[in-house]
Amino acid sequence: ADKGVVEWKYAACGYCSTGCSIEVGLNAEGKPVTSRGVADADVNRGKLCLKGIFEHELFTSAGRGTEPLMREQWHQDWQPATWDSALDKVHDEIVRIQAKYGRDSVAIISTGQMLTEEFYTLGKLTRGLIGTNNYDGNTTLCMASAVSGYKRSFGSDGPPGCYEDFEHTDCLFAWGSNLPEQHPIIYWRMKEAQEKRGFPLIVVDPRVTMLAQNAHIHLAITPGTDVVLMNAMMHVIFAEKLEDSSYIETNTNGIDMLRAEVAKYDPVTASKICGIDEDTIRVVARLYAKAGAAMAIWTMGINQSTHGSDGVVGINNLALITGNIGKPGGTSLSITGQCNAMGTREWSSCSGLPNYRALENPDHRAEIADFWGIDPEFFPKKRGMFQTDIYHAIESGQIKGLWLIATNPLSSLPNSARVRKAMESLEFCAVQDCYHDTESAQYAHVYLPAGTWAEKDGVMTNTERRISVVKPVTPPPGQAQPDLWIFNRMAERFNQSGKVNFPEKAADIFLEMGKLSVGRLADISGMNHELLEKQRGIQWPYTQEQVKNGEAPPKGGKRLYTVDGTFSYADGKAKLIPLPFIDNNEVPDEKFPIWLNTGRLIEHWHGRTKTGKIGNNNKYSPIPFIEINPDLAAELNIERGEYVRLVSRRSDAVVMAMPTQRVPKNMVFLPFHFHDCANRLTLGLLDPHSRQPAYKQSAVRIERIANQ
Ligand code: SF4
Repeated sequence: ADKGVVEWKYAACGYCSTGCSIEVGLNAEGKPVTSRGVADADVNRGKLCLKGIFEHELFTSAGRGTEPLMREQWHQDWQPATWDSALDKVHDEIVRIQAKYGRDSVAIISTGQMLTEEFYTLGKLTRGLIGTNNYDGNTTLCMASAVSGYKRSFGSDGPPGCYEDFEHTDCLFAWGSNLPEQHPIIYWRMKEAQEKRGFPLIVVDPRVTMLAQNAHIHLAITPGTDVVLMNAMMHVIFAEKLEDSSYIETNTNGIDMLRAEVAKYDPVTASKICGIDEDTIRVVARLYAKAGAAMAIWTMGINQSTHGSDGVVGINNLALITGNIGKPGGTSLSITGQCNAMGTREWSSCSGLPNYRALENPDHRAEIADFWGIDPEFFPKKRGMFQTDIYHAIESGQIKGLWLIATNPLSSLPNSARVRKAMESLEFCAVQDCYHDTESAQYAHVYLPAGTWAEKDGVMTNTERRISVVKPVTPPPGQAQPDLWIFNRMAERFNQSGKVNFPEKAADIFLEMGKLSVGRLADISGMNHELLEKQRGIQWPYTQEQVKNGEAPPKGGKRLYTVDGTFSYADGKAKLIPLPFIDNNEVPDEKFPIWLNTGRLIEHWHGRTKTGKIGNNNKYSPIPFIEINPDLAAELNIERGEYVRLVSRRSDAVVMAMPTQRVPKNMVFLPFHFHDCANRLTLGLLDPHSRQPAYKQSAVRIERIANQ
């Protein structure tokens, strides 16, 4: 076989949330040598993007941790340790710090990269035994606004639509989403459908992204003003009586207040704020409202803003007033980030308790406490800090201990100089990661080597609620262990009475989760690992009841809500929420006259912890650069390829200049992947609802570097 492959092993891709099915080819020595898309997979139909194609190289990439490490002070050299001594140290330090400063003085931050059974087990350990309320995921940095917006509009998180909606829609709005680079296989699905159906594609983005290049209409909006455009579109829809009154009447509350608010956003007034001319606002509002089925997707351009949650609610408002939730091709679909960001939303207990249960709800607390066998009073009565607030609490001395799991905040959080200072001040830090050389591991006292992606057993949920199985392709290197094994060993230390049950096998944990899901929105009680593997993924909800009655759709529920009132609020109706616009960004001024916009490249994944070590990803995109408008470059005498200094109120960074018409004259675009670069500059004002940072709206100036 090709490259000496003697066996192919199945997994779902471990990078983005598209959820592609992948097979890794092993040679006669059992070494992973190649990857390919699974031909009959519902999501990717045999295709993979650049990241997926080289995913097998992860197993042997540089910097993999192969043994536990310990040291007394973070600036000393690492010493090899046994698993027992490393785990004992983490346990003892958590107990010591909690005894001295209180339960919440320890924070635990995880990720969207682990498998769902691992999230569930970590949640049980954290909520049920350790008891700190300061437990969150790095997912606050990418999709917290989508979660918050869905909850506010529909009463619960959970994306309503699916990729198949591209094949039924008559109009597609993409808000702050650059599919060809961020989610290439979803882009391919969208493009295929568009070629067949010819629906108009309207892209809202201040940059001429690859998706904007393919749009029928590109709305180059002023950064951070999407809510104004949404309000103006609703103004036009109501003024021209294009709303779906019957859907509004049956399925929503709040129409009068929404009408009153959007009345203030006539296209002339809105145009002055959002930078889109009034006629174009009218045209796109009509296109959207008159389409038989209209679909909206969005990514970080909406989420990573001080108006992130409001932006999501605005997209939902537009869908609800035009009857575009619950029908094929009519939806508001958050394209989420990490491969299992959805799994952490559903099961991690970061923001509450398993399967979208709330800490604020006494019935939910009692139900989970009873199921786990603990005292309900042990649970806090409201959620604790978000990740973005935890670092401020470390800075102020409120939090003294930190356990980081598969995340690298020094690279990913805004204003990194501030994060670095906070981490230096910790009394204790443990880092659990498949790489020992992350920037954040520099500040750790204990390093726990974990398996990566397909070195483990479990499931992941993709953007369209499709759960897929990942089975180990190869074991973790050296003494490294799957995260689930690490959590279970830690649980033994906190659970000496044995009162809480921690199953060892992922398939058994999945069945436990299934029991907890009966009757819930994300009901997975009809699934098990075997079935998921056989079906190559199933979308939730997929219930025991449906299976018993022979009514289960073979691949699960395509859409979450129907067209006749099934939302999660008590009366089954969605909420229409008025969104007054408050201009609260850092905006360019005389001293810092240029917008700094950050985002992703097709070759790289997040902080390049993985892709920075994979030759074929790294060689296409090895160094940080800015896109700069040629007119601005000429004005500043900057040549193509010249290194320049970007300066913000926080710090500075040196980058290469690449003149291009992709950005307007008052903006530069900087990919965020490169360590110690973009996040030296970003301010990271937070969305008030989701606490997600506004990575895309900071102000900078550009300085030439002398004597290059
Ligand atoms: Fe993996 Fe996403 Fe690429 Fe698919 S599109 S192969 S899930 S990185």
